[in-house]
Amino acid sequence: MDLFEYQGKRFFSSYGIPTSKGEVVEEVAEAVRVAKEVGFPAVVKAQVQVGGRGKAGGIRLVNSEEETEVAASAILGMDIKGHLVKRVWIEHASDIDKEYYVSVTLDRGSKDHLILISSQGGVEIEEVAESAPEAIKRLHVNPIDGLSEDEARQLVADAEIDSQARQGVVETLLKLYRAYVDGDADLVEINPLILTTSGKVHALDAKVTLDDNAAFRHPDWEDFRAAQELDGREKLAKEKHLNYIGLDGSVGIIANGAGLAMSTLDVVNQVGGSAANFLDLGGGAGADVMAAALEVINTDENVRSVLINVFGGITRCDQVAKGIVDALKRVDIQSPLVVRLDGTNAQEGREILANYGSDKIQVEATMIDAARRAVELAGEER
Ligand code: GDP
Ligand code: MN
Repeated sequence: MDLFEYQGKRFFSSYGIPTSKGEVVEEVAEAVRVAKEVGFPAVVKAQVQVGGRGKAGGIRLVNSEEETEVAASAILGMDIKGHLVKRVWIEHASDIDKEYYVSVTLDRGSKDHLILISSQGGVEIEEVAESAPEAIKRLHVNPIDGLSEDEARQLVADAEIDSQARQGVVETLLKLYRAYVDGDADLVEINPLILTTSGKVHALDAKVTLDDNAAFRHPDWEDFRAAQELDGREKLAKEKHLNYIGLDGSVGIIANGAGLAMSTLDVVNQVGGSAANFLDLGGGAGADVMAAALEVINTDENVRSVLINVFGGITRCDQVAKGIVDALKRVDIQSPLVVRLDGTNAQEGREILANYGSDKIQVEATMIDAARRAVELAGEER
């Protein structure tokens, strides 16, 4: 689960990381009230789960009630990279002297935790990685040993953090590491971590991804979850108990097994297309689950073709084919279907589809041919 900035700040402050006091609101009048309470100058910040809000106009400094009204009216309802702003966070504005970057994340490659730190914060870390890779320092932390104060101090020195900020950044790093481990996060990132003109170190932004597998240990996460926004397709998929993740391409994907679904995405990419979603049917693929899958994909207006890729192991392809035929009787699917069936009873499955004789269905023998066909169809006008 990805947290909104205001939730991330609450998460950080529960581990003692300094953040500005503020409040999240949904209405302009409330924004004005909070701005008065925290005191001017204040910042009005769009709460959407996407980076670069500043550049997109989703963050504004305000000096009066009138300016707050103007800023909040402009930001609430704004579309930032496809995310609708429903809430703004208001806090007292900080006087920034320096902006730094710190994060802790899981490094699956080295099977340990990875801390990144840079004295060039405030811009996207990917940009720093391009323009000044030497300005990012890394420390791998063995989860058994944890992070010692000495290591943190050395890392902060290596990153050439300004001397008056070092003690504060070391303390923040130790708390951030603790928040990451005890808080069961997969990622914690502060960008920017600032040094204020009065010499304080302070988190100005918060990006946190919690590990959903640990939810059972954290009943308080329910509050975080309640504010999460799934897109329409994901909401419907969840109701239908499908393993679905929305993406922004034009080829709808239905596959059985997470591994095959991932490979299908890759192959679609390989032949020059882009997937509209990830969808794993799981074991068995009867008419109900197939109809549910097609229904969800049908609501996605970017979809131009659907690629059904099934490998029959325990699942039998003739059953899957029957499922497809039944589902098509129930769902008025907008896009052409390209079907690749292989494995147990594949031949019987293909015959069932051929006998059904719908011009909506095209059968291909291999995964790569099916992907090519689906991508071709997705590129055609309709
Ligand atoms: P992001 O663009 O989505 O990463 O949003 P951030 O919360 O990181 O804010 C972007 C930029 O806005 C920061 O790097 C700051 O330069 C500026 N900003 C945010 N809050 C304040 C503040 O309290 N005071 C000042 N002076 N600038 C701020
Ligand atoms: Mn930021």
